[in-house]
Amino acid sequence: IGRMADAVTRGVGDLTAGVTEVFDPTLRLGVTGLSRAGKTVFITSLVANLIDRGRMPGFTAGSRIETAFLQPQPDDTVPRFDYESHLSALTSRDPHWPEGTRAVSELRLSFKVRPAGLLSGLRGVRTVHLDIVDYPGEWLLDLGLMEKTYDEWSERALARLTSWNASDYEAAMQAVDATAPLDEPIAQKLARSYTAALHLARDAGAYDLTPGRFLLPGDLEGSPALTFAPLPPGEAPRGSLRREMARRFEAYKSQVVRPFFRDHFARLDRQVVLLDVLGALRRGPRAVEEMRAAMADILTAFRPGTLGWLMSLLGARRVDRLLFAATKADHLHHGQHARLTALTEALVRDARSRADFAGARTRAMSIAALRATVEETREHQGVDLPVVRGRLLSTGREAALYPGELPDDPSHILNPARQGADAWLDGDYDLMDFAPAPLTLRPGEGPPHIRLDRAAEFLLADRL
Ligand code: GDP
Repeated sequence: IGRMADAVTRGVGDLTAGVTEVFDPTLRLGVTGLSRAGKTVFITSLVANLIDRGRMPGFTAGSRIETAFLQPQPDDTVPRFDYESHLSALTSRDPHWPEGTRAVSELRLSFKVRPAGLLSGLRGVRTVHLDIVDYPGEWLLDLGLMEKTYDEWSERALARLTSWNASDYEAAMQAVDATAPLDEPIAQKLARSYTAALHLARDAGAYDLTPGRFLLPGDLEGSPALTFAPLPPGEAPRGSLRREMARRFEAYKSQVVRPFFRDHFARLDRQVVLLDVLGALRRGPRAVEEMRAAMADILTAFRPGTLGWLMSLLGARRVDRLLFAATKADHLHHGQHARLTALTEALVRDARSRADFAGARTRAMSIAALRATVEETREHQGVDLPVVRGRLLSTGREAALYPGELPDDPSHILNPARQGADAWLDGDYDLMDFAPAPLTLRPGEGPPHIRLDRAAEFLLADRL
């Protein structure tokens, strides 16, 4: 009898799951940005704050939410976003930053919400599901590969490596005969050398580096679809290294890039793109210009009119709200946040106007998903400096630091004529490896943040 009852309850459980799927509204929120932009911290803090809602005054739907709770996600084959581990890293006795995003993952947060306004008395409490999809921005950059042949891609990839001084790869490439029959160890060696060159270029401030999976392979590491590299155009006899490289490039497009866009990207309703604008600024004008160019490329995905293959995957579905958030704003005194936002707006201006045109609402903001500092004013050689104070990871000690000042006009940074002329954030910015502040979480209070509630308002409030 016990077993039968079990089976019956399971049956009922399955049934309700099915019913839930069909009738409850679901919102799919994509969270992306290049490596270390802050995706993991953003999702962890957003979810913790949505569950608690104590520190979300700017999130108007918060007052109508009766409960928010985690549920099994709908997609059985996508890894779950490891919320619990990340939260415990941030909130442990000795808080540390969690491991960042390496691949796509997903988390379902469900809300019980009271309806707004006049109808509130008439309609009952509704359930709304929020499916958060975390994925590397590097994978979005692969969009640019789809319309290119192997030769076109190779030419561009090689030109970029040259401009970023990746001479090791050139030496490796020159040592092989691309018309000779494929020899797998040679193909692997080239792919490894090319991957190493991409990493070097990225560390120097390059953003648009493809294929994205070479930087973040996910579970495809070592597979043939990731064992190719660019070669200059030339003869490609059947069975030759060059012919096989071109074939694998096509396999990468059809079996890696396209399925990612179909299975994950094409199903999103809302998107937040996180940008470590301060980090790019610190690396210099060229890195900032790279970030601007990469954003313009990424944003093509949100006005897919020109891309037939993507249009056919999307069907009628579109991302209708797109947020660009400059992260880690807690490195700056709030007096400079408006400048950071203006710079972020300027960085995505081209891309933005196109997305706006295609019907998506866009917004730029400066946020800190997890505030690790407090603000102070300190006198230094007779002037008052707006500093931020926090505990440094390197020393474990508290330090009050002044990061330097952003220009009030973003065109001072983005104007190509002035590039190279200025160094921004030349204060203590390099020393700022703040540890996450030990959180004093009282009941009903989420982790401290800067404008995370505003971000939630823009991305979610109208659908709850
Ligand atoms: P991901 O690679 O995009 O998932 O990036 P993470 O979320 O792992 O963040 C990368 C690093 O940026 C973290 O390890 C922190 O050092 C830093 N970081 C992220 N968010 C914040 C924030 O809100 N404030 C501060 N001070 N640092 C942050």
